[in-house]
Amino acid sequence: MSRLQTTENLTDEQQELLKLVRQFVDEQIIPVATELEHRDEYPADIVEGMKEMGIFGLMIPEEYGGLGESLLTYALCVEEIARGWMSVSGIINTHFIVAYMILQHGTPEQKAHYLPKMATGEIRGAFSMSEPGLGSDVAAIKSKAVRGEGDEWVLDGQKMWLTNGGSSNLVAVLVKTDLGGSSVYRNMTTFLIDKESGFGETAQGITIPGKIDKMGYKGVDTTELVMTGHRTTSAQILGGEPGKGFYQMMDGVEVGRVNVAARACGVARRAFELGIAYAQQRETFGKKIAEHQGILFRLADMATKVEASHQMMVKAARLKDSGARNDLEAGMAKYLAAENCADVVEQSFRIHGGYGYSKEYEIERLYREAPMLLIGEGTAEIQKMIIGRRLLEDYKLKG
Ligand SMILES: Cc1cc2nc3c(=O)[nH]c(=O)nc-3n(C[C@H](O)[C@H](O)[C@H](O)COP(=O)(O)OP(=O)(O)OC[C@H]3O[C@@H](n4cnc5c(N)ncnc54)[C@H](O)[C@@H]3O)c2cc1C
Repeated sequence: MSRLQTTENLTDEQQELLKLVRQFVDEQIIPVATELEHRDEYPADIVEGMKEMGIFGLMIPEEYGGLGESLLTYALCVEEIARGWMSVSGIINTHFIVAYMILQHGTPEQKAHYLPKMATGEIRGAFSMSEPGLGSDVAAIKSKAVRGEGDEWVLDGQKMWLTNGGSSNLVAVLVKTDLGGSSVYRNMTTFLIDKESGFGETAQGITIPGKIDKMGYKGVDTTELVMTGHRTTSAQILGGEPGKGFYQMMDGVEVGRVNVAARACGVARRAFELGIAYAQQRETFGKKIAEHQGILFRLADMATKVEASHQMMVKAARLKDSGARNDLEAGMAKYLAAENCADVVEQSFRIHGGYGYSKEYEIERLYREAPMLLIGEGTAEIQKMIIGRRLLEDYKLKG
């Protein structure tokens, strides 16, 4: 096991699980990741393997058929999986957020209906806030639900950037419900939309047009979602009552931030591993490039960043598990880990010289993947807004 990214005080069970995941990553993911990614192919066999290991139900309580693990365990598994291939961690990330939101905010009927099937991976979740005109400014959404007859609702609008939009069969969608709430934040509602997986009209009034062609993060599908008169009922409102959607989504995104930080830690560690291996093989001017101080300093810088990100991510996860507020730490972890990841990947790419630019080398894939982590679950500027506002609360001048 690597000296970097070790975690203190894990239970025997946590260590066993992580060992299993690490082995799965080394044997089943790393050998095929780059080839599948270049073909933009969905990793169906890997997903089946993860279902068997119970990864889709990691944080779902045992009473609903899951493993009932903590956010920390989940994040450490995600870190290992992202080390193998970031896209695979993307497949479970939105699923995990939706399961978490149902667990925290769902009605007893919603929990009983969705969670057991989500634990096995039979139901797979996507979540949708962003629209073509907005991502950071969530409160500006235009998609809306209006009341029909009785407890019926009709949904219209266009959503953008749904990770797993095609492969999922359940989408948690945030829409406006103008029911006279006291603020814009109280006029938004999360609906749970059941649909078929695939593309085209996958439910009445729900169309998934096709995959967005991306620079990296391939294999996992990212889509739009178009709602044209989608009819549903109050039973599909998360928690049963309208007006709570914004807060539910923000709760989901907060654990999602720890998750993105964990992914960034995994990708950064892989980039470091590739860089330090290459530096001990390649020779210039009569010695291994690792022996040139310029490269040695790069490796030291990379390892320090890999380690710092991991410790910050673990702190944020543990705080959430303890029941404490962790918005500051989750924002810091996401911000630090994503920035460090982009930097470590860039440095590893440079260590590879011209070969880093060749598709035969794994670092080429990581170089296209790392920027996604700077954006998903809130950009650096949004994290800094959260961190800064929270600091002003804590350090408010007295008197
Ligand atoms: C591959 C991929 C997958 C995604 N998956 C999902 C998903 O599953 N579900 C989902 O809902 N969304 C998803 N997203 C959307 C993602 O959350 C948004 O792209 C992100 O929040 C940024 O929003 P935006 O792209 O609209 O950028 P904008 O909000 O338009 O921001 C543009 C730039 O302005 C900056 N900026 C914005 N506001 C401020 C401010 N107040 N102060 C300073 N700077 C500011 C931003 O930091 C950014 O640099 C995904 C995106 C990608 C690329």
